[in-house]
Amino acid sequence: MTVKFQLLGTGAGPGVPSFYCDCIACLEAKEKPHLARTRSGAVLDIGHERILIDASPDLRSQLIKEQIKSLDYLFITHWHYDHFGGIGDLEFYIKLSRKRPLRLFLPPSSVEEFRLAYPFLEDVFKIETWEFGRTYQFGEVKLTVLPARHSIPTAGILLEAEKKVAYFTDTSGLPESTAKRIQGVDALICDSTFHGENWYPHSHMSMVEAIELGNMVRAEHTILTHLAMHYSTPTTVAQIEAELESYPNVSLAYDGMLIEL
Ligand SMILES: [Zn+2]
Ligand SMILES: [Zn+2]
Ligand SMILES: [Zn+2]
Repeated sequence: MTVKFQLLGTGAGPGVPSFYCDCIACLEAKEKPHLARTRSGAVLDIGHERILIDASPDLRSQLIKEQIKSLDYLFITHWHYDHFGGIGDLEFYIKLSRKRPLRLFLPPSSVEEFRLAYPFLEDVFKIETWEFGRTYQFGEVKLTVLPARHSIPTAGILLEAEKKVAYFTDTSGLPESTAKRIQGVDALICDSTFHGENWYPHSHMSMVEAIELGNMVRAEHTILTHLAMHYSTPTTVAQIEAELESYPNVSLAYDGMLIEL
């Protein structure tokens, strides 16, 4: 089966490096550009179609880097800038190359916000709304939208093919029903915004909390993503990798990472 799930971006809102910051995380990413983190998003490639999950403000550079030349669907998990800010990058792809509207699945509460922010994009997308609990079939992959716990209504995504992978980019723990539904997944890709103290415990998670959540849902593998790296204790990839040595089933996500399905 030719199904691929790829993380296009693995950074939190400010990205790594941030233009205003010279912490050790940002210096490391400036010195070693392959350790930079663009804002979060992913693509599900089922062979003949590609489903983009979130349109990061870094979308254009992500698609060029991963050599993705066509898209068939766009799923927005929630209406925060770091997840929708790249929508406009698709305008000329759709108008000049694809030449027919792209199906855009929005959070039900964000249709009005989309219309206000992007009136010039209404004819390039076919707007639909996703529903919590609903399963969408893409080729051999089942994609189920599950509630996350974030500052606004936010979807987490469960992908089921040969393997089960849960993608929760922005969440603070999980509602009980969601935790139950993803028990025993092969991989939990989880919000790990903070290293050290969690400044936004109602919206995001720290790395330690993400590892605990992975254990709680008995994930085979926990992959830490949506990393700020500078907050609250700035850290480097080298340092985190040393910290994770005693957790053989935990890995640090990186831009471009491929996850088996
Ligand atoms: Zn920094
Ligand atoms: Zn968010
Ligand atoms: Zn985010």
